[in-house]
Amino acid sequence: MKKILLIATGGTIASEETGEGLAPGITAAGLLSRLSGVDPAIDVETWELLALDSTNIRPEHWLMIANCVRETFNAYDGFVVTHGTDTLAYTAAALSYLIQGSPKPIVLTGAQRPIGFDSTDSKENLRDALLCAASDMPGVSIVFDHKIILGTRAKKTRSKSFSAFESINYPDLGVIRDGKVHRFIRQDCADRPTFAGGLNTAVSLMKLIPGADRGALDYLFEHSDAVVIESFGVGGLPEAGGYFDCIRHWLERGKIAVLTTQVENEGSDLSVYHVGSRLKRELGVLEAYDMTTEAVVAKLMWILAQTKTAPEVERLFYTPVAMDMFPR
Ligand code: ASP
Repeated sequence: MKKILLIATGGTIASEETGEGLAPGITAAGLLSRLSGVDPAIDVETWELLALDSTNIRPEHWLMIANCVRETFNAYDGFVVTHGTDTLAYTAAALSYLIQGSPKPIVLTGAQRPIGFDSTDSKENLRDALLCAASDMPGVSIVFDHKIILGTRAKKTRSKSFSAFESINYPDLGVIRDGKVHRFIRQDCADRPTFAGGLNTAVSLMKLIPGADRGALDYLFEHSDAVVIESFGVGGLPEAGGYFDCIRHWLERGKIAVLTTQVENEGSDLSVYHVGSRLKRELGVLEAYDMTTEAVVAKLMWILAQTKTAPEVERLFYTPVAMDMFPR
């Protein structure tokens, strides 16, 4: 018998019609009571942690979820976290840094349609997530639409379809078919997880548009310890407009700049073009390579809670955690 803790945080899966749109109203126990066909070899206990639309999820909630897992880690064989899909990829990434090397499965899931609706993906997703949590799949993952996706690699790529998530620049960890978990990849884990102490939330993200005002970038640097810039293609910054001077100014004042790309697949390579190579060579900007923006943001929050020293930030940033990037 496998003992699984189901931690509910809200989301569409637990939502009901309020007359003013959907909002979470169904408890963890309520989710379970609407589910039939759960493997009798799985014993599920519930924890009603939050009841939020995931648009309202903040880093302090990531810490609450990690803490919940930490406090109960020895008592269960695996964990399922039900969560809204909108920010699920951020939470999965954050938990991957907050709980590293877990030998037990920590599985996040949600749904595009509430569990009480006639047509819903909630039941399949929850049933699959419980199966995965009762399997030997270590670490943080997302189970959605029968796929198992590594927590550091997930991105919501569809706003309405049941196939809402994709694994970016990394294969799916496995699939769940006919009540069975089929693993494609065996990740490493430790004997015991390492739980991180905290997060530094002073991280911002700027999506570049052609002709963007440098003032917006100045503002973000002024109010953050690190700014992630989602630029174009393999990465670079416009040569006019004062961006280089702006970044130089803020890096000299101890801020961290990371360049990534708005393109979903294949990542950045700043060395290719003149608009990018100077950034690394002359300024010491970091680049995301094959990491998702969600993972970059969460990783910086985890790193900056430990150190703000540029070489140490750089070392930790380029050290793969939970296969968030291919080793360089
Ligand atoms: N707005 C919802 C949420 O993220 C969407 C969902 O769960 O699918 O909580």
